[in-house]
Amino acid sequence: MDQRLQTRLLQAGERLFEEGEPGNYAYIIEEGEIEISTMIQSQRTVLNVLGPGDVFGELALIDGRPRSASAYARRDALLTIISPEQVQQRVESADPILQLLFQVILRHFRSETAHARVQPVARSRQPRRTGQRPAPARSVVPALDLIRMESELRAALDEEQFTLVYQPIVDLATEGIAGFEALLRWSSPTRGRVLPDRFIPQAEATSLILPIGAWVMGESIRALQQLEQACQRPLFISLNIARRQITDPAFFDMLLAATRRVGMSPSQIKLEILERSLFETAVATPWVRRCQALGFPLVLDDFGTGYSSLQYLNEYPIETIKIDQSFVQGLEAQRNSRRICQAIIDLSQALGMTTVAEGVEHPTHVAILQEMDCTYGQGYHFAKPMSLEDAIGLLEAR
Ligand code: C2E
Ligand code: CA
Ligand code: CA
Repeated sequence: MDQRLQTRLLQAGERLFEEGEPGNYAYIIEEGEIEISTMIQSQRTVLNVLGPGDVFGELALIDGRPRSASAYARRDALLTIISPEQVQQRVESADPILQLLFQVILRHFRSETAHARVQPVARSRQPRRTGQRPAPARSVVPALDLIRMESELRAALDEEQFTLVYQPIVDLATEGIAGFEALLRWSSPTRGRVLPDRFIPQAEATSLILPIGAWVMGESIRALQQLEQACQRPLFISLNIARRQITDPAFFDMLLAATRRVGMSPSQIKLEILERSLFETAVATPWVRRCQALGFPLVLDDFGTGYSSLQYLNEYPIETIKIDQSFVQGLEAQRNSRRICQAIIDLSQALGMTTVAEGVEHPTHVAILQEMDCTYGQGYHFAKPMSLEDAIGLLEAR
């Protein structure tokens, strides 16, 4: 075998592997024909004849068990070799639920071939000993936990286990409250208080984020009305919009309905998105244009982290940039953080955008950000996220 080229030539009739042998590689047929066979009642039985473009040998490669069938060249064949390294890392880094499904499918395949070989009836009819379920393999535990969490998240909506907390966003020039960011909380009867970083990715992966996001929208826009009543002046509310919501055809109908229901202006309802939500431009561009046409301001969240690109600032009508808290928290000690904050503020001013500094925790942060002409600040220095009641109380007390 030519390891360097990762290909293998077989002559007609040549064997590649036999059942029972360790399975080290999978193969793609580039040319020729490969016959897959197995022994059934001491008779070699052909299971399949494969040709160019077909892949085989992958079962053993993925689950590391011996070959369940034999492979011979029917005609001269050229194969490309798939090595374990190429596959295993991908399988291991795959979504845990996909891994679980993978294992179930592999087990099915394995028992099918076993059945064919050993006259299945007697074997499969063996009664299962009840009450003795084997403990799940360690590798499926994360998948099971995710599946459980998914069912719990479904129940959470119906059983009203979600709440919203509101964190003030402060105008740095006047130090008055300009608006609030709505942040989701989940009080699970089994898990206790779960933070969004733990369950939102799961909600996104299952599209449960759509009904959850719809609930957040309705609830927080209604809250905006109550907050305004408490202080008798216009405020804004900032909502976090998940990537999956951008592709939801019902998004704007819901948003408009919620906005009209309380008689608010779209300009008071800001939509916070991450840059990576804009990657798929075919979906993002019409969505962004629609926001602009309807008058809902867009906020670029966590700016400067992840895969940052100035392209979006250039192409899209962004109203506000949120400077990630990692830069804000470095304001005192790190000269580079200070320069980065200043550069982001200068850039957004040049583009006619406003800035919010996140994670403002110390009075010195405030002084530096005011000096830099940052528009808004948000963070524990001003207030932690709080219940609607507390937010109303805070506004009334001012
Ligand atoms: P984010 O949008 O960047 O929200 C800011 C996070 O920083 C919040 O965490 C907030 O509680 C926290 N924070 C605020 N001030 C400070 C501070 O001074 N210091 C520090 N260290 N942290 C501060 P939280 O509430 O745990 O939310 C985490 C993330 O979950 C949010 O990050 C957002 O991406 C996501 N999220 C929250 N609510 C929703 C929601 O309704 N929908 C969606 N799609 N995502 C949400
Ligand atoms: Ca946010
Ligand atoms: Ca953020």
